[in-house]
Amino acid sequence: MTLADFPRYPLTFGPSPVHQLERLSSHLGGARVWAKREDVSSGLAYGGNKVRKLEYLIPDALAHGADTLVSIGGIQSNHTRQVAAVAAHLGMKAVLVQENWVNWPDAVGDRVGNILLSRLMGADVRLSPAGFDIGFRDSWKDALREVEESGGKPYAIPAGASDHRLGGLGFANWAHEVRAQEEQLGVFFDTIVVCTVTGSTHAGMIAGFADLAENFGDRPRRVIGIDASATIEKTREQVDRIARRTADLIGLGRDLRDDEIDVREGWAGDEYGIPVASTDEAIYLTGRLEGVILDPVYEGKSMAGLIDLVSSRQIPADSNVLYAHLGGQQALNAYSGRYH
Ligand SMILES: *Cc1c(COP(=O)(O)O)cnc(C)c1O
Repeated sequence: MTLADFPRYPLTFGPSPVHQLERLSSHLGGARVWAKREDVSSGLAYGGNKVRKLEYLIPDALAHGADTLVSIGGIQSNHTRQVAAVAAHLGMKAVLVQENWVNWPDAVGDRVGNILLSRLMGADVRLSPAGFDIGFRDSWKDALREVEESGGKPYAIPAGASDHRLGGLGFANWAHEVRAQEEQLGVFFDTIVVCTVTGSTHAGMIAGFADLAENFGDRPRRVIGIDASATIEKTREQVDRIARRTADLIGLGRDLRDDEIDVREGWAGDEYGIPVASTDEAIYLTGRLEGVILDPVYEGKSMAGLIDLVSSRQIPADSNVLYAHLGGQQALNAYSGRYH
């Protein structure tokens, strides 16, 4: 099998836009920085990176005759909001377990932003007191069983649509999309920087770019994942496992090397979902220099990593860096106490 053999249900407008971050690049004074914008790539409830993964899960859900998508995330999960949107778009139901992933006191945190949007789209939203964990949860298994018991046909989508057989395909496809855009733009992105938590975004890219180098004659690239989970061992293990599974699925034809699994720590702070000084600086800098909005849970942290790696020349000054903007701005509504 190759990537092209897997059915894909289109949920995006087409290739996500790629553009330069010129003022940020000259401010940092090193590599040229570009962005590829998953935050503006779909018309389904503001889109984001999970829509791309769902493009490959939905054909499987439909083939199984499912009528209800069952998933899980934090209260301000971008992922569950995207599952709710895709369910509405397809005339399916959505059951969403929303756990208390973030120790962030906000008076209206369970009523604004992502969770508000999921409710607007008709999802069955269930709050659960459990804390942050990217693994499989009983509350999610209970929700699956309940749907079955009431005569529905559930389709199980794990946290972030990651630890699923097909979870890495969306971003393996992203790698092929980047290659086509490079040809149009006349540029080669030697370095990709991406936020990683549940892992299949980064893992899919690793498999996809390895496939391009191995089977399509591309030069190899560095795909740097910036951890935002603050549980680095779990995230690294999950990226490793999903990258190898995806590489296998798309017929890479060799094992991934350990050095291809590049998950870096240093910008997550102490806890998932809690911004630290470097997160805030990245959010303000990108907002003020570029008019591009980042969130405090994910993209603010990965941009903080990019800023340090470019400024310190760990990413060399002659590089073209592609920053994957994965969306997530809706969660900003739950952080009004911090940014004012
Ligand atoms: C889910 C998410 C991520 C992390 O992607 P994973 O595939 O879970 O590693 C990063 N940024 C945003 C905005 C997200 O919603």
